[in-house]
Amino acid sequence: MSAVRGWLMTDIPTKNPKIKSSQAKRRQTGSYAVVLRIPSRRKIMIGKLGLVDFPRGHYIYFGSALGGLHARVARHLSQEKKLHWHADYLSAEIPWEYAWQLADGQRWECEWAQSAAAVAEDFDGVSQPAPGFGSSDCGCPSHLVRVNNAKQVREILSSLRPAPRRLRLRF
Ligand SMILES: [Zn+2]
Repeated sequence: MSAVRGWLMTDIPTKNPKIKSSQAKRRQTGSYAVVLRIPSRRKIMIGKLGLVDFPRGHYIYFGSALGGLHARVARHLSQEKKLHWHADYLSAEIPWEYAWQLADGQRWECEWAQSAAAVAEDFDGVSQPAPGFGSSDCGCPSHLVRVNNAKQVREILSSLRPAPRRLRLRF
């Protein structure tokens, strides 16, 4: 399957509705990272994980949506939702601010989370303060990675391979 990379379904300039619809479907699947900042230390109930102590910092959560990437990212960035994933419990307290994504039809969340954690371990402070966050089904230590500042977030997200791109759209 050829990888179709991009951000938005509406990016595709075509007058053929059939092509548009099949390309749009492929572009709807892939992986993403959403980012938020916790300005001061905070304890938050994260579903079955229980009460988690989050140090001040910038947090990156990695996920994938093989059945609707655009809708999933929009859902994360929305405050109108039922609490389902660990990420929902966190963002009910502090909203995700923006997203990066790669709509290539593949699931990169585990590789990205592990490679991000490896980079974050070299920074000061705890890099994975919520063990098991978002990784109940895969066995990764966590899909949530903490760093100290926005520069480190960019450094990590731009080091990922294959590379996601920042979404310009605000929901
Ligand atoms: Zn994983």
